[in-house]
Amino acid sequence: MIKNPVLICDFDGTITENDNIIAIMKRFAPDGWEELKEVVLSQRISIKEGVGKMFALLPSSQKEEITQFILNDAKIRRGFADFVAYARDAGIPLYILSGGMDFFVKPILNGLVPEDHIYCNRADFSGEYIQIHWPHSCDEHCYNECGCCKPSIVRKIAKGKDIIVIGDSITDLEAAKLADFVIARDLLLDKCRELGLNHKPFDTFYDCLDHVKEGIG
Ligand SMILES: [Mg+2]
Ligand SMILES: [Zn+2]
Repeated sequence: MIKNPVLICDFDGTITENDNIIAIMKRFAPDGWEELKEVVLSQRISIKEGVGKMFALLPSSQKEEITQFILNDAKIRRGFADFVAYARDAGIPLYILSGGMDFFVKPILNGLVPEDHIYCNRADFSGEYIQIHWPHSCDEHCYNECGCCKPSIVRKIAKGKDIIVIGDSITDLEAAKLADFVIARDLLLDKCRELGLNHKPFDTFYDCLDHVKEGIG
């Protein structure tokens, strides 16, 4: 039974239906970005290095075009607004931990989640090409060069709490291992089953709402 919960929720592929970085690269990146994606997925280079190099392919002059594109393209998964309202009314803190960039994560969550509950990377458009800054890098317990290091943030913000992680992908796995309860879809769901983590599956945030209510019931 969960008594003192904190909700740790992923962004890309969890709150939004698709991965926004992939959508941006598909639309704007020159040939070559897919090779970067492959070497990241095969773990030959870190997420931090791979994603940094992908964004470095894009000229800063395309800022407006890229921002408009992704804000139009991103779709929020069903039930998220109701889930946010439930957490607020129940007094359960909700943090968004995202490997995405501030210029799309924050506007998409505007009016739903306060900025000081959002952890993501920062895109810098001041140079010729986009440069990514990583304000939430790995702590002394993580050597994965995550970029936005979810387990490091969880160690910092969730001390003494019962941790509920909601996510979809391999980038949520290390945080999920620290959790008391995981709500998962896609690859993260497979991993939870494989590793025997305490978990439930979800498709919409109405499922998440039911699982949280049951868990703390
Ligand atoms: Mg994700
Ligand atoms: Zn890390």
